[in-house]
Amino acid sequence: MELNSLLKSFLYIIGGDVAIEVGAELLKYKNSKDITDEDITEYIKERIEGKGIDFEPEASEILKLNTVRKTLYKLYSEKLAQFRRIRDKSTGWFIYYWWSEFELLEEIILEKKKIVDRKLRDRLRFEKENYFFICRGCDKPSIKYKFEEAFELNFRCPDCGGVLEAQDNQDIINFLKQKLVLVRNISISKEIENK
Ligand SMILES: [Zn+2]
Repeated sequence: MELNSLLKSFLYIIGGDVAIEVGAELLKYKNSKDITDEDITEYIKERIEGKGIDFEPEASEILKLNTVRKTLYKLYSEKLAQFRRIRDKSTGWFIYYWWSEFELLEEIILEKKKIVDRKLRDRLRFEKENYFFICRGCDKPSIKYKFEEAFELNFRCPDCGGVLEAQDNQDIINFLKQKLVLVRNISISKEIENK
């Protein structure tokens, strides 16, 4: 398995360019040996040395161990990496060995897709079921009142006293519908097959 475009995009979303570099190292050693966060840092540094890449513009180093660790934990929390730790008997410190679980990517994305789909549908239902009132004269145009709320307020804005007007939410509804179509049409299997 290589770092295909889907995996790359996903890694980038999780942790930017560093995550792509970390992902590449995890893949490289996937079947050969366990690597530590320190190894990963060193290998990336060797690889990017002299290429004008600097992940730490504020510091003298081009990549800090701490940055790699943070990135690994991000991958771990997204279920794309795993680790085991062993106590170094001489120093008493823990050594963390890492490996990738990129084969779960498809499953993870499908799950995310389902969540987004559900959220969009909930929001769409909410917009359809609720007819909102807003105050146009106010500097708080983001505040929306449901019919019952507006009715209670006598259709007067509690902030400025202006008239609460019914808001046409057809644009929002159309936008949500378009998003839903988009999400449903994302074909993950195709991307995976092309790896
Ligand atoms: Zn107002």
